Amino acid sequence: MRTTNYLVATLRETPSDAELISHQLMLRAGLIRKLASSAGLYSWLPTGLKVLRKVEAIVRDEMNKVGAQEMLMPMVQPADLWEESGRWQEYGDELLRLQDRHNREFCLGPTHEEVITAIIRDDVRSYKQLPCSFYQIQTKFRDERRPRFGVMRAREFLMKDAYSFHVDSDSLNETYEKMYQAYCNIFDRLGLTYRAVIADTGSIGGSASHEFHVLADSGEDAIAFSDGSDYAANVEKAETLAPQQSRPEASKSLEKVETPKMKSIEQLTKHLEVSANQTLKTLLVEGVTEEHPVVALCLRGDHELNTIKAEKHALVAAPLTMINDDKISQIAGCNSGSVGPVGLDIPVLVDRDASVMADFICGANETDYHFTGANWDRDANLMEVIDLRNIVEGDASPDGKGKLTIKRGIEVGHIFQLGSKYSESMGANVLNESGKAATLEMGCYGIGISRIVAAAIEQNHDDYGIIWPQAIAPFTVAIVPMNMKRSHRVKEAAEQLYQQLQENGVEVILDDRKERPGVMFADMELMGVPHRIVISDKGIDAGTYEYKHRRDNEKVDIEQQNVLNFIM
Ligand code: ATP
Ligand code: MG
Ligand code: MG
Ligand code: MG
Repeated sequence: MRTTNYLVATLRETPSDAELISHQLMLRAGLIRKLASSAGLYSWLPTGLKVLRKVEAIVRDEMNKVGAQEMLMPMVQPADLWEESGRWQEYGDELLRLQDRHNREFCLGPTHEEVITAIIRDDVRSYKQLPCSFYQIQTKFRDERRPRFGVMRAREFLMKDAYSFHVDSDSLNETYEKMYQAYCNIFDRLGLTYRAVIADTGSIGGSASHEFHVLADSGEDAIAFSDGSDYAANVEKAETLAPQQSRPEASKSLEKVETPKMKSIEQLTKHLEVSANQTLKTLLVEGVTEEHPVVALCLRGDHELNTIKAEKHALVAAPLTMINDDKISQIAGCNSGSVGPVGLDIPVLVDRDASVMADFICGANETDYHFTGANWDRDANLMEVIDLRNIVEGDASPDGKGKLTIKRGIEVGHIFQLGSKYSESMGANVLNESGKAATLEMGCYGIGISRIVAAAIEQNHDDYGIIWPQAIAPFTVAIVPMNMKRSHRVKEAAEQLYQQLQENGVEVILDDRKERPGVMFADMELMGVPHRIVISDKGIDAGTYEYKHRRDNEKVDIEQQNVLNFIM
């Protein structure tokens, strides 16, 4: 590729609305663009798409290796199918529902259990056809309440979803193990630091589930590891198994919480200054330690809150004019089914008249500490917190071996033994060996292809931009010729090397723009191209190129005939 015929689309300035480094770099390096002002909708520009396709290819290859068969299912799904599984009612607002011209109801597929089950119940009749696995790589739509961090939590995103079918649970176990291993291979090949953790099977039931997390401080999920064994679980799962720790109880009624640490919270709230003419009510919720009190404020009256100040824990919100649902979720991370802001020193502000304040997550004075299941009881004028994080760093591991460390992760994959949840409700049976109808056992296996691109950047960047792992770099080599405008020799050498590398199957970008060297270097570094070769008159005289790896600071002069050894 030549930059003169390629949309480089790099930006010098950091876009102001991008909080996460990966989001900033994806915009700055010209990988993605947000579609107008629509939250969670992104276009993949040429460079971004190259990376996305590489991730996709690795995932596809590993799925093929475990014998999963690729197919492609419709994105638009009829409501009838979802009625059959019961999820038309259950799924909630993430399901984008629509009607066709005949007023028939449909949804945009957030996942495809119903569709695949409907196919298999018709086309797989005998145990002899089992086990079988299918996968697709396809756009999903979830109407996320808080789309954020670019493609990390988008509304439209690319997922690989696979489904397996079995005559019994032993067979399901076997495929599950293979898929688990395939996932490890995928993340190994991607060159990412990741952990597989036990996940809660939650409302879906079933016997086993694992999430794959790319480790990153910016991750939205907390995962718990034992330092004395291989135990690793997401925090929700670890909590369900955690031995009872002695810690203050989560308060059920928080109008006033009487605990030994009350005083420090009162001291804290003394520093809260709220502008006049506000009738404010302060509800206090105690945090785990004196250092980390969590404060919930309740607004009443005319929703005008101008300043919130506190000496400790920097409870400083930007001046707010209107506290509405949007604003609340924006500043406080009140959301159902998702964690609040990471490390934001902002208290939860609850508009008592807001209608959507059920089961949200609040409190973020500490990176890893949130209350979950908070509910605002409007009539009783109380806030109730059902669930208080009950494991923290240093607690005993649920397996009895060692102590827990808590780290943050980005969920990039999730595998699940579904059992007969869908096959039973949707009537997917096969004839077993003794000729009797048996309900199919089912597994499902998801990977967030587009999220992986962002997660890879969270783990691989520096002050100058992205540092792609070689396996997913948009280009392997950047050729940067010096003074090509004037030096015919440089131009010729650059063209020659460009040809040579291409003939050897190397993906190369030749910066043939008439830009200053600084601009070209900056762009190639921002885009994260692993190998850079500079061609200059001086080098040509000496028979060398200047070589630099994106991860290194050192440049070295290499013999021209040695170039392939350096980059392959
Ligand atoms: P999360 O907990 O982040 O909301 P999830 O548990 O709802 O994710 P799954 O239903 O397990 O997601 O979907 C499989 C994979 O799809 C996830 O592991 C994740 O990598 C990816 N994914 C889910 N939601 C999104 C999204 N909104 N944007 C990008 N990728 C997503
Ligand atoms: Mg989700
Ligand atoms: Mg999840
Ligand atoms: Mg999941």
